Amino acid sequence: MRPGQVIVLATPVFLLSIGIEFLVGRLRARRGTGQDTYRLADTVNSIGLGMLSQIGGVLTSLLRIGIYTACWSAFALVDAKDFWMQWYGWLLALVFYDFCYYWLHRMGHECGVLWAAHVVHHQSQHYNLSTALRQTSSGFLFDWIFYLPMALAGVPPLVFGVVALVDLLYQFWVHTEQVGKLGWFDRWFCSPSNHRVHHAVNDRYVDRNYGGVLIVWDRLFGSFQEEDERPVYGTRKPLDSWDPLWANLEVYWALGRDAWRTKHWGDKLRVWFKPPGWRPADLAQSDPHPPFDLAQVQRYEPVVPGTVQLFAGLLFLALLGGTVSFLWFADVLPLGTTLVWLLVLATGLWSAGALLQGRLAMAESLFVNAAALATASGALGIAPLHLLAKPLALVLGIAIAWKRWRTPQAEGRFGLLLLAGLAASLAGDVFLMLGAHLFVPGLASFLVAHLFYIALFASGVGLFPRRQALAATLAVGAAMYAFLWSQGLPAGLRIPVGLYVMVIASMAAQAIGRAAVLGGADARAVALGAVVFMLSDSLLAFNRFVAPLPLASLWVLATYYVAQWLILRHSVRPAADAADRAEVQAPPNRSLLSR
Ligand SMILES: [Zn+2]
Ligand SMILES: [Zn+2]
Repeated sequence: MRPGQVIVLATPVFLLSIGIEFLVGRLRARRGTGQDTYRLADTVNSIGLGMLSQIGGVLTSLLRIGIYTACWSAFALVDAKDFWMQWYGWLLALVFYDFCYYWLHRMGHECGVLWAAHVVHHQSQHYNLSTALRQTSSGFLFDWIFYLPMALAGVPPLVFGVVALVDLLYQFWVHTEQVGKLGWFDRWFCSPSNHRVHHAVNDRYVDRNYGGVLIVWDRLFGSFQEEDERPVYGTRKPLDSWDPLWANLEVYWALGRDAWRTKHWGDKLRVWFKPPGWRPADLAQSDPHPPFDLAQVQRYEPVVPGTVQLFAGLLFLALLGGTVSFLWFADVLPLGTTLVWLLVLATGLWSAGALLQGRLAMAESLFVNAAALATASGALGIAPLHLLAKPLALVLGIAIAWKRWRTPQAEGRFGLLLLAGLAASLAGDVFLMLGAHLFVPGLASFLVAHLFYIALFASGVGLFPRRQALAATLAVGAAMYAFLWSQGLPAGLRIPVGLYVMVIASMAAQAIGRAAVLGGADARAVALGAVVFMLSDSLLAFNRFVAPLPLASLWVLATYYVAQWLILRHSVRPAADAADRAEVQAPPNRSLLSR
């Protein structure tokens, strides 16, 4: 059994414990004897990050265990397999692991690039059992270095894998505010009280209590702090987002940005190794970060309507079901299949976060998820799902455009052209889905769709306001066409494909010209969508007429839906845009200290 499967078996225990802790917290809050520490969005974000970490772990754990096993078999200094398989061997291995974990964890707080991975575990501004599940997806990059001493000492990979899991599972229960101090236990073991200190940003608490199972390491190496004032949870630079992908990237991005912008070559390197919060001298002067002030800490909680919360909760449960089934079967799935499902689940988790922070309306998140399923089912050849999801995605796109067209700030002809473009795309989707013999009707439908899009993008700016753009896209189209011809484009398809290339190149030129005239992020996104549309069709043509691409539908459909999404979402008049979004109010201005 793999660690992923153990996690699946542990999932009901996790969820049940979370349910009990939630009820206890509610009850205590009602009686005035404690706190309800749960918020839906935070819990979805935390558990979602755990899911993402486990899904990614299917690919990365092979690397991790692989490196460990390779080092163990090549460099183990003592060959004492029998010793490690005795009960005292297992116990010693656990203590050994816990010691290595202490240093990994400590370095995770003292070195920028390691903090970039570990920060995910600390972003929650709440502290409850769901916080335990929020784990990084990029730990695999450097974690293994800290466990090499175990490989050198000859701890067999099996023993290493099991004690690693025990150490991780142990830490689940300490993430709670419902258990107070535990006397002697707090002095020896990582416990709720001393791990609360670890998650706090108070001056006296920050960078303390790293121990995983034993807290003895902190006492030995001078990093222990007792819980003696109310902890305020989170990070000193708050995430302020429910996006699980951004949660994994935020610190890498910040470090990369500083490394890029600083003028000193030494600092470009130093940025990655200095403690979190360190800035190169020139940037600290030109772009200073405000100093941390505990009294100014605000809790991130954008307000979204109850229906959106319910919908996001249901979507999240569906994704949880999908993740659990995926993890159970992951070891027998081919690499490509794993990659496809990883992308689908990551997209779904992103969309759940986007709903809860008001970035996506419900219909928009359905479109995103239907598109992901249509792409996955196409790539993996799951016909029934594909027949359902592919038309559904565009039907949802049409519904979104329809609703926008019917709003009080009606877009008139503009909205109608978008609707017509999407409807023609739907027809094209259905023709292409039903088989190779309908390729030409499919092509014709998309040709019509692009004509509608050209008219849409011409409204207000005229036809082809930038001739250079038209020349450029036509040149790219002509090159592609010549290449297809040379690779044996069937004679009967030369005219329809040639026509199609001309029209899609014109559509892209129109969108680029419009962006040049109008400016602004929306117009640029539409232009990008049009260019991605050309890319998608080039991939489709290459796969069909030149050479089959591995997982062809994944690349063709993913780029196709990105293109349609950018066009659908951004080709609106700015005034009509707001009505379709879930209403987001500014987060309440509440200090965490005054609650
Ligand atoms: Zn930590
Ligand atoms: Zn923790």
